[in-house]
Amino acid sequence: MTHPRANIGVVGLAVMGSNLARNLASREGNTVAIFNRSVEKTETLVAEHPEAGFIATRSYEEFAAALQKPRTAIIMVQAGRGTDAVIDALTEVFEPGDIIVDGGNALFTDTIRREKAVRETGINFVGAGISGGEEGALNGPSIMPGGSAEAWQTLGPILRSIAAVAEGEPCVTHVGTDGAGHFVKMIHNGIEYADMQLIAEAYDLLRRVGGIEPAEIAEIFAEWNRGELESYLIEITAEVLRQVDATTGKPLVDVILDQAGAKGTGAWTVQSALDLGVPVSGIAEAVFARSLSSKPAQRAAARDLPAGAEEWSVSDPEAFVEDVRRALYASKIIAYSQGFDAIVAGAEQYGWEIKKGEIAKIWRAGCIIRAQFLNRITEAYAADAELVALVTAPYFADAVAGALPSWRRIVAGAALGGIPTPTFASSLSYYDGLRADRLPAALVQGQRDFFGAHTYQRVDREGTFHTLWSGDRSEISAVDAH
Ligand code: NAP
Repeated sequence: MTHPRANIGVVGLAVMGSNLARNLASREGNTVAIFNRSVEKTETLVAEHPEAGFIATRSYEEFAAALQKPRTAIIMVQAGRGTDAVIDALTEVFEPGDIIVDGGNALFTDTIRREKAVRETGINFVGAGISGGEEGALNGPSIMPGGSAEAWQTLGPILRSIAAVAEGEPCVTHVGTDGAGHFVKMIHNGIEYADMQLIAEAYDLLRRVGGIEPAEIAEIFAEWNRGELESYLIEITAEVLRQVDATTGKPLVDVILDQAGAKGTGAWTVQSALDLGVPVSGIAEAVFARSLSSKPAQRAAARDLPAGAEEWSVSDPEAFVEDVRRALYASKIIAYSQGFDAIVAGAEQYGWEIKKGEIAKIWRAGCIIRAQFLNRITEAYAADAELVALVTAPYFADAVAGALPSWRRIVAGAALGGIPTPTFASSLSYYDGLRADRLPAALVQGQRDFFGAHTYQRVDREGTFHTLWSGDRSEISAVDAH
């Protein structure tokens, strides 16, 4: 038997796994064992990248034998059944103390289930969210690992060696136990949906109301990218809008079918938030906006419905562009605020000690929502770790306050003009709901008590109450709180 030489292994050598394996191999001190179910992918990777010095293996037994103890393997296979199959195979050949890392896009509840099952064998299981797509996997992703503190001891230095670096710090932190990493990765993706939709709404307004052509809008986004909106998504939006279709000579954005796809992590975020009772309305509207776009039959049937809209004429184009920018920034703050609310609620529900400021830090590079703005989030949680809502932190509260007149003009104008701005509008509505002195929830409680005797609390007395609604007078009776 050969002496085990690899300090890390990768199982699954499709695009993500290959790139991650190459990234690992390129860092000093790492020797990488690789395995893929079908051997061709392994052979291709070894042939194309001799410089990586991979230890190619053809069976799970050989793979385990190539790894130094504690054996550490990152799985990058098709999420779902593929992941379960590989975990089963690895637990057969690994030993207590070894570490299995799932770097795929797993649903965090699956990670909780898998961690529990694998832990019973004495092997550590770590669900690690890895963001940044193919390029991130190769050059430095943002990594969100969960799992035990014991596993983090071994895994931490390896992940730090391959993560993206922001202002000298690697974009990886031990997020929390079991499913915490995949949960936070899921919320990251939810925020990404909101961010993208907000940018798309801003573009739509600039185009349809401002009458600005894509190439010029690209310049506006490039300009915005030099200010407080500076982010990867704004940067690539400028690139996308600049692109001209080689066949037609039209802006590429005009020949792309306007039906947005989704791989499901946005929907997971919203489903989880519903379960946790967290209003992530901006993220939800972004997910629904993609769903609406992808209903061609309904859209065709509704196309001739009346708009009943008013002409929205822009008298000062520069002021209009600035209004859109501010509305975008304020709505973005809401999306992040809601996303962090979901992280807080998830941590509470599942018993994770998640450091919110650290999460914002590891999103500063490598991932899709990377932005300067994340430093402000870290600062807000550093100033007040118990901050109840990000939007109430002084920096963000001031930023929103400054944007409010613009935000209201844009949302009102869009409503009057018949232009859909679901994420701008719902974010503003959320903000107004949050700051309201009284909400009509009081009436909802009355209705609930009327038809279902669900009881209510009063503003002036302790206790739980139920009104006898029938009869010619309402009687109020105190009922037992239980
Ligand atoms: P993929 O297309 O999702 O999966 C293909 C890989 O899974 C192949 O190596 C395949 O092996 C393996 N596989 C499938 N079923 C298997 C089984 N039952 N047993 C063993 N291996 C099995 O690959 P990918 O696009 O590289 O993605 C890998 C993971 O990363 C996925 O979880 C995906 O969701 C996630 N991902 C993340 C990002 C990101 O930005 N973070 C981007 C893309 C993907 P064979 O070659 O033998 O078929």
